[in-house]
Amino acid sequence: MVATDLDFNATSERVSELRENLAEVRQRVQQASSSGRSPTLIAVSKYKPASDIQALYEAGQREFGENYAQELADKAAVLPADIKWHFIGTLQSNKAKGLASIENLACIQTLSSAKAATALSKALPANRPTPLNVLLQVNTSGEDAKSGVDPLTPDHAPQADLISLARHIINECPRLHLQGLMTIGSLTESLSSDEKPNADFERLKQTRDLLEAALTKEHLSGKWGEEGRLLLSMGMSKDFEAAIKSGSDIVRVGTSIFGFRQPKAGATALA
Ligand SMILES: *Cc1c(COP(=O)(O)O)cnc(C)c1O
Repeated sequence: MVATDLDFNATSERVSELRENLAEVRQRVQQASSSGRSPTLIAVSKYKPASDIQALYEAGQREFGENYAQELADKAAVLPADIKWHFIGTLQSNKAKGLASIENLACIQTLSSAKAATALSKALPANRPTPLNVLLQVNTSGEDAKSGVDPLTPDHAPQADLISLARHIINECPRLHLQGLMTIGSLTESLSSDEKPNADFERLKQTRDLLEAALTKEHLSGKWGEEGRLLLSMGMSKDFEAAIKSGSDIVRVGTSIFGFRQPKAGATALA
């Protein structure tokens, strides 16, 4: 069970530990982003109690990531309304409704099918002030265990899955805004070398450039991205600095902020 009861507070030791971890990660993010542009840091709080999130909120953190729809809903119900929640878990179409009803859901980072996109767009309330940001999950490492659409290569077909999905969201899902791309990548890849750029991150970057070109060619510009660019969500505790150096706009950091997670029985954290 995930504790969502805010009647108890984190102990003062836990509060200091979380604050120190957050400050350190923020500093590392800053140092890795030379160009002055500051990537968004998402604190990945899966399995962690609401009291931990509240402590980080009080330290100024607003963006949090969760992997399970019910856990996100439970936490959103008891935590401050100006938290920006990112859903980063496997998205099942039957979970779209529950997620769509969370008012301060800021982004779904793991969209990978037209079916889920349609379900989500239909489930979102008509009076939502702005469309819901979505990122398309790309399986850059090609592992069967990871979800996501295949990356694009320079010889991609005009009807490649990723392009079709992007087109579907832009043309058929008025309550969604295609904001960018997300990948998990293979950890062995990122740990293999400090000098050579991570191949999965490079593949996501190339995919982003090719998708932007394809959408621009179809005169779909202005209907996606931020200021004409699709954002990239890549980098976790073990590789966020490398990801930022490769041009990541959004990093998702759990363990380095919250400490180790107790794996949930029967659930894979990285699915
Ligand atoms: C759990 C998770 C993270 C955070 O991983 P850490 O290694 O703990 O930083 C990031 N992204 C996704 C998709 C996750 O499932």
